[in-house]
Amino acid sequence: MSKHTVTLIPGDGIGPEITTAMRRVVEATGVDINWEIAEAGAHLMESVGTPLPESTLNSIRKNKVAIKGPVTTPVGSGFRSVNVQLRKELDLFVNLRPAFSLPGTGARYQDIDLIIVRENTEDLYAGVEFEEGSPEAHDLIKFCADKGAGAIRSDSGISLKPISITGSERVVAWACEYALANGRSKVTAVHKANILKYSDGLFLKVAYEVGARYEGRLEFEDRIVDACCMGLVMRPEEFDVLVLPNLYGDIVSDICAGMVGGLGIAPGANIGTEYAVFEPVHGSAPKYEGKNMANPTAELLTAVLMLRHLQETEAAERILGAIREVLAEGTAVTYDIKRVNTGSTDGCVGTSQYADAVIERL
Ligand code: NAP
Repeated sequence: MSKHTVTLIPGDGIGPEITTAMRRVVEATGVDINWEIAEAGAHLMESVGTPLPESTLNSIRKNKVAIKGPVTTPVGSGFRSVNVQLRKELDLFVNLRPAFSLPGTGARYQDIDLIIVRENTEDLYAGVEFEEGSPEAHDLIKFCADKGAGAIRSDSGISLKPISITGSERVVAWACEYALANGRSKVTAVHKANILKYSDGLFLKVAYEVGARYEGRLEFEDRIVDACCMGLVMRPEEFDVLVLPNLYGDIVSDICAGMVGGLGIAPGANIGTEYAVFEPVHGSAPKYEGKNMANPTAELLTAVLMLRHLQETEAAERILGAIREVLAEGTAVTYDIKRVNTGSTDGCVGTSQYADAVIERL
């Protein structure tokens, strides 16, 4: 029997190519993983009637750990994002997105080492929405007017932004515990509490209550999200661990990914009390599907996070070291890295050749 069984969801678009590369690299370290393949994505709609079959959820519930490629969310198709659904179904309330500098990426910033902890289950991603013109939207608009809560134009679509004490408490506590366990010194809570008094205001109040428990062990501060974005690009050294409600976390983590070289190298993890689902920050990049072009580094770094979670730290560090070497050498790199370093994609290698180069340096 294998030491670990992990659910592997290849996803769609570039997902199958980058997860194949990831699997080859992880297997080359000798870590004993039995991969249980499970499917998710729009291509299942016809055969199974859902993009996220119960069998996939059950596989994760059984194995506790999953790693996935990206899954396309067709615009206007009516079905909710598989990724959002997974996070809600398994109560994966933390989205961990580290952003750190690697050599040879041509990134505008060096020496970045930031941890983004994004709340993953509420805020504008809660999925409580009312379509423009629907009787429900009409009722809600009337309710707000009747209660003196404010006038909403009658032709509005409405998305609610629920933020709870429970949701805020657990994500901020998780960020603080992560900071302590990983030798970090500062946690910054990010919000727009000056405008959104009852949602972000609650997040901020709870954040400070949690932060107070860590007094003397961690520095705790807050930033308004817009000032935080400017601060990040001007003085990133002022930040360490950031904890944010869902939407700001999504946006700020992409800013941080851009600072260290782009989406092709940004890893992520969705973590709850029982389950962990590892996935890169980027999407399915449909235009590169099947072309053996996509950069698998983000998926490989995602596997590094997974291996650390499985306490396979030696294999994790070997993969990270090999990626550093390949990127620093700058020859066997994918189109995106070549383009940013030389202004042209000439001489780049494909997804699988890049994985070969990483394997050679393990
Ligand atoms: P995207 O798939 O992340 O791609 C946007 C651009 O980022 C690509 O065109 C490419 O830029 C670059 N990029 C992304 N991944 C890369 C990689 N591995 N290697 C090199 N370059 C990479 O974003 P999108 O086009 O907005 O979204 C496509 C679909 O993915 C949507 O349906 C979206 O809903 C879904 N999505 C899924 C997840 C997930 O499964 N967790 C997350 C985000 C989005 P260049 O063309 O400039 O090289």
